[in-house]
Amino acid sequence: MSSSENIPAANFIRQIITNDLEQQKHTDVVTRFPPEPNGFLHIGHAKSICLNFGVAAENNGLCNLRFDDTNPEKESIEYMQAIEKDVAWLGFEWAELKHSSDYFEALYDFAVQLINKGLAYVDNLSAEQIREYRGTLTEAGKESPSRSLSIAENLDLFARMRAGEFADGAYVLRAKIDMASPNINLRDPALYRIRRVHHQRTGDAWCIYPMYDYTHCISDALEGITHSLCTLEFADHRALYDWILDNIEIDCHPQQIEFARLALEYTIVSKRKLNRLVTEGHVSGWDDPRMPTIAGLRRAGYTAASIRDFCERIGVTKKDAWIEMAVLENCIREDLNNNALRAMAVLEPLKVVIENYPSDGLEILEMSNHPQDESRGKRKVPFSQVIYIEQDDFADVPPPKYKRLIAGGEVRLRGAYVIKCNEVIKDDAGKVIELRCSYDADTLGKKPEGRKVKGVIHWVSAEHALDAEIRLYDRLFNVANPDAEDDFCDAINPDSLTIIKQAKLEASLAAAKPDVGFQFERVGYFCVDAMDSRSDKLVFNRTVTLRDTWFAK
Ligand code: ATP
Ligand code: MG
Repeated sequence: MSSSENIPAANFIRQIITNDLEQQKHTDVVTRFPPEPNGFLHIGHAKSICLNFGVAAENNGLCNLRFDDTNPEKESIEYMQAIEKDVAWLGFEWAELKHSSDYFEALYDFAVQLINKGLAYVDNLSAEQIREYRGTLTEAGKESPSRSLSIAENLDLFARMRAGEFADGAYVLRAKIDMASPNINLRDPALYRIRRVHHQRTGDAWCIYPMYDYTHCISDALEGITHSLCTLEFADHRALYDWILDNIEIDCHPQQIEFARLALEYTIVSKRKLNRLVTEGHVSGWDDPRMPTIAGLRRAGYTAASIRDFCERIGVTKKDAWIEMAVLENCIREDLNNNALRAMAVLEPLKVVIENYPSDGLEILEMSNHPQDESRGKRKVPFSQVIYIEQDDFADVPPPKYKRLIAGGEVRLRGAYVIKCNEVIKDDAGKVIELRCSYDADTLGKKPEGRKVKGVIHWVSAEHALDAEIRLYDRLFNVANPDAEDDFCDAINPDSLTIIKQAKLEASLAAAKPDVGFQFERVGYFCVDAMDSRSDKLVFNRTVTLRDTWFAK
């Protein structure tokens, strides 16, 4: 049984929520998952999704999916569709689908409220001047001359910003807080900027767009969010989150709680950086099976349950920590060990002719789909005179303790007979190209008489085999923390994809579907590639190796 079926582990956020409910601070739990639609979701987002949807579900609450769409240059409808698909695939149902842009009019009205209270002003300092005036961690900032504009002047300027009277960047609306605050986020942060860019939902209705910090807290409050869960980098923004909600007329004040981002070794979890991998062609797309995106993991053969299990296992903490890739791989390995159907596939075929087997002979052998689970049924596997075995299951010069086939030696064919190698045929270069063998007709499902045969190898009938391309994936980066490099692209593993063009698969795999994983016995876990596989040209992806072999290489 996988741990996904266990009761969720306690974490500090679940604890806070339980306490809040016990103390009747809230009667219901409402959370939200608020991605910016500027790329595909990655495994880091899965952590946030499982947490937000998870704590809501555990408390009979609700979780919204909200697109934080205030940066139209980088965002698109295609990304929104991909995000919806991935959240649903992970197994979560949002209560409402929202967009920050749904609130543009309300956000504008709240900004007018702040101006009316003397808590916001329109500034004509340039971006560079604003940076200069901001001060540093050790030095207080300097007040902008615009701070002394009257409320009437600010109302007029802000209305004209909206009306499109000014050039992009000519003015910003700023909160009037404290230029000497030790928290730089409170040194009169920008609330609105002028930017003439077409928005995927509001078109050209707006030429001013609200800033993230301003938008986020108000969107949360408008949706009645009780607990606004975000990652640690927003801890220093919490004071601004609270300041804005304390100073506008709104009767909901969600509690922002920060948790550690997922940092996963040998990969990158940032949409911006993953975008570079896509646009610079280092991978085939956002759904390349080497990508740590939900779409990439799905295409590689990860199940939604294995990703949820991973998120549960890593837990939710207040401190950043690196997670080893092996933790993620173990989740899918465990899932597939329990659930994947078994099949035989030969990746590097070596032809074997069984000379004493009738040339027109054919037996249909029955094999279990899962050795530990009879309920998964049996499949039919044809056996005939010519078969393929794996090249490295034969050794001309065997290393010590080699238990597979050698010249003059015997081996068992999985689920079939014991064969003996009588003759080794080589090409001019000395490469073994064919074996001539004989079989012991008395060994089907039985031990041979008077001798021990230790090795068992997999095989496929040549006449019935399906040709397939097999894609073997390895880690995308050569170093545990690619971000520590000058340029993370320099750390890309050049051998992250190995393509095997001519593998031979057991005939039953013709009907394989992309969302069903297989264990190719003795080889690894695989699934049909959802994008490139055709009935006349099968393509399989390796999801994960049978064991954790990465450090053993
Ligand atoms: P990126 O840099 O990849 O775009 P982001 O945090 O800007 O990351 P958003 O789409 O804004 O991405 O994030 C949506 C939600 O997912 C936020 O609440 C964010 O905190 C959370 N999130 C993003 N990355 C991670 C991560 N690595 N671990 C946990 N949560 C994350
Ligand atoms: Mg973001």
